[in-house]
Amino acid sequence: MKTAQFKALLASLEGLTPSQRRRLADSLTGKAGQAAGPTPLDAILSPRCPDCQSSQVVRNGMHAGQQRYLCKACPRTFNAVSGSPLSRLRDKDRFEAYADCMRQGLSVRDAAAKVGLSVDRAFRWRHRFLQSVVPHQPKGVAGMLEVDETYFRESQKGSRKLTRPARYSGGRAKGAGRKAGDWVPVLVGRVRGQPYTVDKVLVKLNGVEVTAALKDAVKPGETIVCTDGHSAFLRLQASLGVETKYFVASYHGHTNKTFHVQTANNYHEQLKTWIQRGLRGVATKYLPNYLAWHRLMTWNKAGLTTYDVLRSASGQQVINT
Ligand SMILES: [Zn+2]
Repeated sequence: MKTAQFKALLASLEGLTPSQRRRLADSLTGKAGQAAGPTPLDAILSPRCPDCQSSQVVRNGMHAGQQRYLCKACPRTFNAVSGSPLSRLRDKDRFEAYADCMRQGLSVRDAAAKVGLSVDRAFRWRHRFLQSVVPHQPKGVAGMLEVDETYFRESQKGSRKLTRPARYSGGRAKGAGRKAGDWVPVLVGRVRGQPYTVDKVLVKLNGVEVTAALKDAVKPGETIVCTDGHSAFLRLQASLGVETKYFVASYHGHTNKTFHVQTANNYHEQLKTWIQRGLRGVATKYLPNYLAWHRLMTWNKAGLTTYDVLRSASGQQVINT
């Protein structure tokens, strides 16, 4: 092969999915065509019995391209994703490629094209992959927890039956401002200098909902909650039982150097940019899943691995631990 051709070949490898990479590696090392053993999914997910949680399991043949296991403690047989939201999806050999799209925060069309799914299926997979991640919130963090709310416009994107008149495309309906019912409050808590994020879509921004959203994330004596003077936050010290610092934004743009919510506000910005520009808006009913997705993608500064996405999707808590 000529040098130029070889260079082009190397360059073309950039776009390979993880499973394509593996097939290529197998082909180069002469492993292609050998009998299929446990799939990469099995290696990643270290199978556990979905009934009794035992990890004392033995291989028990293949079914539909997936290794099956037999629990030694009870009679259950299962595969690596049994009992998880992924269990009933077909084409499990494409999970890894799909997880790679999730890792990158790709739109449903891009993911569909890369993995070879219809757009409808890619959309369904997206929400199955995210279902387990919604409750992967932090527990009892030590440090400064910055808490602030942001708002998303109510959206029925993708819904066939609108319960309100359609909005002019790209613009605001006449007279629509920030009125209740039109905007959805989202609470975000970020621990300063650490990767922990707690988030929750609220029905209403008030003390009861904020307390419920934060109570598992804080620990008396360990967490300091830092927030602004919104009335929903005023009783947090009592309701959460942790030290709470309030600040008042000044008219001159000076912020308190210790007690501020800049880290939480930066997170809001990043989240909104991705949802609006990357995904072109999302339906309100799926908002908790998108919060979970963003939490997943931002957990690790060095970047989340495809394995982390798969493990999270199958129910193992990888983030906020
Ligand atoms: Zn069992």
